[in-house]
Parts: sequence; C-alpha cells; structure tokens
Amino acid sequence: MATSFFALFSIGQITAQTPATVTLVKAARLLDPRTGNVLSPAAVLIENGKIKEVGPPSQVQVHAPAGVKIIDLGSATLLPGLIDSHTHLLLNVNVPAEAEMTRYGFFQPALLLAVAAKSPAERVLLGAQMAHEDLESGFTTVRNLGHSGIDGDAALRDAINAGRVPGPRILASARKLTPPGGYFAALNPAVADPIVREEFLEVASSDEGRRAVDANFFYKVDVIKVVIDDDGAGITAPVLAAIVEEAHRAHKKVAVHAGTTIAIQIAIDGGADSIEHGNDVTDEQLKLMRDKGIFFDITPTFWNGFLNKVYEGTIVMSPELKTRMGAIKGRRHPANVSFVQRIMKSGAKFAVGSDMCWFVPGKTRGEATAMIFAALHDDAGMPPLDVIRSVTTNAAEMLGWQDRVGAVEPGKFADLVAVAGDPIADVTELERIRFVMKGGQVVRNDFASH
Ligand SMILES: [Zn+2]
Repeated sequence: MATSFFALFSIGQITAQTPATVTLVKAARLLDPRTGNVLSPAAVLIENGKIKEVGPPSQVQVHAPAGVKIIDLGSATLLPGLIDSHTHLLLNVNVPAEAEMTRYGFFQPALLLAVAAKSPAERVLLGAQMAHEDLESGFTTVRNLGHSGIDGDAALRDAINAGRVPGPRILASARKLTPPGGYFAALNPAVADPIVREEFLEVASSDEGRRAVDANFFYKVDVIKVVIDDDGAGITAPVLAAIVEEAHRAHKKVAVHAGTTIAIQIAIDGGADSIEHGNDVTDEQLKLMRDKGIFFDITPTFWNGFLNKVYEGTIVMSPELKTRMGAIKGRRHPANVSFVQRIMKSGAKFAVGSDMCWFVPGKTRGEATAMIFAALHDDAGMPPLDVIRSVTTNAAEMLGWQDRVGAVEPGKFADLVAVAGDPIADVTELERIRFVMKGGQVVRNDFASH
C-alpha cells in the first residue's frame, strides 16, 4: 500500500515539472498585434516554457540545438495567446425565464441558485471545467473578477499552476467588495447572511474596505474587484480610495465595476486601475480616464443578439422580450458603434473582457467567450487589429502582466495560438483557434493530423 502510494506520488512530481526541452514552432505567418506587422514565414524558439527567439526560420533555426522538437503549423497564422480580462469561471448560469426575470431581475435568480444550491467545492470543480474549455479555445490567461465561492478562483489558479488540472493562467480576485448586501439586497434578511458572505465582502466604510482587501490577501489574490452601486450610495470615492491605497501597498490593481455616470465618477475619483463595463461613460470622463491612465474594460457580452441566441436554444420568448433583448444578427447597432468609437477616439486605454458567466446551449465556455469577437467587430465596428489588441497587448498591460504575456517576444511565456486563415481579414477566425500552446506545452493542435 505504502509502495503504490509512493509510486503515484513520484509520477505526480514528474508530470508537474516543466521538462527542460527546446521547441521550434514554425508557421507561414506571425501577427504582431502591437504593430500590426506580419512576419512571414515565422519561427519561434522556445526554451523551458519561455520564448527565446522570434524571427524568420532561416535565422532562428541556426540557434536551435540538435534534436530540437519542431512543430510545423504550415500555412497557419500565429498570434499571442488570448487574454480574457473579465470572466467568471465559477458561474455557468441559465438566463432566467421571462416571468422570473420580470419578478426578480436579470442576474439575481441565477446567482442565488448558484450560491445557495451549490457548495463552494462544487463550484470550483465547475470552474475547472470552464477553465479547461477556455484554454481549448485559445484563452491562455484570464482575469477572474469574483463570484468565486470565497476563494475558489485562487484555489483553481494554484491547482493549474501546480499542473494538477489544465487551464489558463488565472488572476484571481476571490470575493468582490460590495456595499452591504452585495447583489442580494432583495434577499430575505433572515437567511441572507451566509449566502452574501460566500460571494461578497461587505464594505460600508474605509476601515471595512481595508479589512476586506486584507481578507482577500489571505488567499493571495492577484487583483481586487470592487462594485460601485448605480446610484453611488454604497461605496463612495473616499472609501474606494482607501481600498485602492491598501491594494496598491501590496502592488495589486483594483478593478471597479461601474455602469452609470455617477458610479464611473466614483471609480475615477477613487483611483480605480480599470473600470469594468462603463456603459454610461461621458466624453469628459473618458478624458479623465486617459489623463489618469485608467483602463476601460469593454464587456460586449450581450451585443450582437447574444441573449436571443441563448433563448432560442431554451425557451419561448414573447415578441416584446425578443425585441428588447436582441439586436438583429449581422446588423451594426448604432449605440454600440458610437460607444466603441468614443472610447477609441478619446485616447483612453482599453481592453475587452467577456464577463462570461452564462450557459450557452451548444457551446463550450471557450466558444461562448469567443462570441465577443463578432460582437466587437460585426455589431460595434471595432477594426480587427484593435479587437486582437484588446485581448493581447492591451489586456496584458491592463493586468500589469505586460512583462510575461500578450506578445510573442523573447522573455515572455510561450503562450501561442494559431488560426488557419487571416484574422485581420476575418476576425471570426478567432472563434476557430486550431493550435494552443501554454508555457511551451501544446494544449491543442488540429494542424497535426493533416
Ligand atoms: Zn462581471
């Protein structure tokens, strides 16, 4: 018994180590999102999980040792691994039915079911599945902004880093800092407390804000997520400033959920590092964000008729709801076009996050997340190169990880993806990622069988 246990333990040790191998990846094209330049043909030399050299194969091959492992992707286009800067791996919830939504709102029924009907352990195992599915679709780094069942995202991050389960690099935030009640303000107070506490850290003062940051530090979070109320009555600018000060002391960034103009102003005044969603942002606020270097994290989750696509696979909608929920497929939505144009014209830094937490019939989590590319381009008119920057170079900078991910450059992690076609000509190529490498390890290679 002792012997077999020891044998298993040894195998685990070996597989958890990164083998000291050298790999050469070759492809017809390599797109640099920062410049838009294409290197053709291209080779990437990888040593111990990191990129050592990038250039034409004739040049790079000279520096490859004898016996180097060669991965030839033929006519494919290589890109940096994709980054989803706003996701919720530990939620995979059904869009509420029409009658339920009318009575309880859009998010609360789903969230309540996820927290009250599942244990934190079940949720982290769900998160492991979502993480694996994201990685299979080319998302090699994700920032998980809350809904973590206390510390589920931090535990998942550590399990992935230890090689126990497959998944992207995760920046974990553990519990969201919210005003008292969190998203459950309408919940019966007699039963609300433990439900609220699993999901949120309630903050009503600067001291509570600092304590909440420290509580999350216990789980070694990578980022702090704060929610500002739409009416600005909950967490105020001075309270947010205290939270930011405490987080920055430990060199952690603060991502702030803010939708309304009032909430966005609190986020700006309180010193947020990024503003999530930002739906009602004014041009004046965009200028302030540019001047202060605050990132705009665009979340196009529901654009491009997303909810109609989800509903069509599940329940019958009234004609009224159908009109309310859906943009018509393939037609640009003027409000989304002007939203994206205003952000891009302002000079404020921006990235994109999926905010994916929904179960989409017939799609894996990765495939559901990849719906953002068509949403940004087809529905909002964002040029393909900017779409790609939003999930590579720009996102890496927003996360503070520009030294390790987001570009195919020497010294960075060897996180690469490849598509068959040209993503600048057709950005939906990103929905069809055929090669994924994370840290020099091949996760997926659909080109290999051809
Ligand atoms: Zn979110």
